[in-house]
Amino acid sequence: MVEPETAHLALARYACRPEASRGRVVPQPDAPSADIFQSDRGRIVHSAAFRRLEYKTQVFVNHEGDLFRTRLTHTLEVAQIARNIARSLGLNEDLVEAIALAHDLGHPPFGHAGQSALNHCMGQHGGFEHNLQALRIVDVLEERYAQFDGLNLSYETREGILKHCSLSDAQALGEVGRRFVEGSQPSLEAQLVNVADEIAYLCHDLDDALRAELIELSALRDVALLAGPYLATKTRFPALNERRLAHEIVPQVQLALLCDVTRATSERLCALNPQHPDEVRAHDSTLVGYSSLNHPLVVELRSFLNQRVYRHYRVERMSAKAQRIVTELFQAFYERPVVLPPPDFARLQKEEKQHGAAGRARVVADYIAGMTDRYASLEYRRLFDPMVRA
Ligand code: MG
Repeated sequence: MVEPETAHLALARYACRPEASRGRVVPQPDAPSADIFQSDRGRIVHSAAFRRLEYKTQVFVNHEGDLFRTRLTHTLEVAQIARNIARSLGLNEDLVEAIALAHDLGHPPFGHAGQSALNHCMGQHGGFEHNLQALRIVDVLEERYAQFDGLNLSYETREGILKHCSLSDAQALGEVGRRFVEGSQPSLEAQLVNVADEIAYLCHDLDDALRAELIELSALRDVALLAGPYLATKTRFPALNERRLAHEIVPQVQLALLCDVTRATSERLCALNPQHPDEVRAHDSTLVGYSSLNHPLVVELRSFLNQRVYRHYRVERMSAKAQRIVTELFQAFYERPVVLPPPDFARLQKEEKQHGAAGRARVVADYIAGMTDRYASLEYRRLFDPMVRA
């Protein structure tokens, strides 16, 4: 491991420095071999929520095939893209990696279908938002330490996890939510993970959709960002099979987006010339992003995926099943909480005493959000199928 004293010598002035961190809620000394952000990364990798990402859906449900992305491989791709750009811009790679590894911890089972079903169930009780849930996991729900709940991560990592937030939630969250009240920006490291998340999913969802045969390779000609790499590769390798062509094309698209973000962000930083991360936070807009030339092309790619992949009837069928499972699990636990495992039932009684129905609903949502796809399916059978052992 790189000594923390030398790890950030190449950091730009606008990067977050570990020695200037606003620290942890509970003061804790870091190990001599790791600075505060490196230590955050370790805490996230060793958490239970991180391990669950392996069996949570990205777009394709876990059992549909072993080669499709899961939340875990998506998370690793986001970290890889974000670190790559961070290195070029002189940003803090360790902080970027910590935020990237934690960014999807709050996703319930079955991807966006699970999220929208849980949000609907929680409609009367403050809603459910995976981004807020990720912060709740690292702040409250992980049980790793004797003296406090959660992982006690640094302010900067928590700031990066909280990508968006309503005004009322922000007010309840205190310091980490303050930027939503004041209208200021997050660190460049946090901004970067946001963009890397999009580059990762646009490219791997395209790749997975080609593999699942939801779209044909020739459809790539209709999307401006994809047409160039498609035609160039097809011309250069006319006899190549479609799978290998896709493997040639999708990484070219990813690299083009990565280079565009690096170049456009670098130009914006040169123009503003911030001398401190707080100047970035006080700026009136985010700085990490695509060039004005590429931005509309990314919007076009996003809407292509929306229409042709995320709303494909096979994806919609899976979403409908997932929403039914999540909704019925919620109703079963909420109406008869004694069927919850004893530690969760005990927590529900405590929360209900303090916060009434909202407390009761929140514990049920926490329990469901923590499930992997296969655990949710198993719980569903245990609760509703008399032939399956409870
Ligand atoms: Mg993500």
